Amino acid sequence: MNDKKTMVKIENLHKVFGKDSHVLRGIDLDVKAGEVVVILGPSGSGKSTLLRCINFLETPTAGTITVDGLTVNAGKATKEEETKILQIRKKTGMCFQSFNLFPHMTAIENVIEGPVTVLGQAKSECIPYAEELLDWVGLSDKRDVHPSRLSGGQQQRVAIARSLAMKPDVMLFDEPTSALDPELVGEVVEVMERLADEGMTILAVTHEMHFARDVAHRVLIMDGGDWIEQGPPEEIFTNPREQRSKQFLAHIL
Ligand code: ADP
Ligand code: MG
Repeated sequence: MNDKKTMVKIENLHKVFGKDSHVLRGIDLDVKAGEVVVILGPSGSGKSTLLRCINFLETPTAGTITVDGLTVNAGKATKEEETKILQIRKKTGMCFQSFNLFPHMTAIENVIEGPVTVLGQAKSECIPYAEELLDWVGLSDKRDVHPSRLSGGQQQRVAIARSLAMKPDVMLFDEPTSALDPELVGEVVEVMERLADEGMTILAVTHEMHFARDVAHRVLIMDGGDWIEQGPPEEIFTNPREQRSKQFLAHIL
């Protein structure tokens, strides 16, 4: 991994909500192209806020975020920074716990939505790739079905295909399986695993232990808006150094 280029770099990132809710406290992170990083940590530790800052769904209070060589400095609000933010948004796909599909659109319409509205492509132009993606997530037969007629696992797979339609360089997953019935978790994790195999750079907040142990290259544990410790999964899970990590891991393992 060390010879790969850096895909995501975060330096001294802070996020303060309101006057004094200091949620991210000087986060640093360096993710290589093709690296799979799992972020763990107690509820409220700032995991979602961090992911949301990376694609600017939240505005960071201070620090810098670099995605694929584009650096945005949180302190600056210039036109140039705005342009870079829009470019970074296109480079980062995001999947949430709640799939957020458009309920009035079929699976294929959901998948082409981004390319059509954000990239200005013609529908006919994006349909072949959208069909390929639906096939890739195993849902060719659901092409013309609305989300309400899909299971949670199927909806999340459509949501992943929808993100991939924008040809992102990085995929951010925020607890993508937490809202699913247990029997549907596997089909979503399997898609994430295939994405990892194909070399996608992935940052995932997930408590799916198979993914964290066997797929992730690195696990980071967050608490109170900063890292407690990080390392390869085999180290973090068998021999955590910090007391707070031990306590947290005791709850989830
Ligand atoms: P996690 O994903 O690790 O559970 P979050 O990033 O969702 O943690 O939240 C971290 C803290 O930030 C929590 O205390 C939460 O209440 C607060 N927070 C998150 N989003 C907002 C917001 N939009 N406004 C104010 N506080 C927020
Ligand atoms: Mg969260």
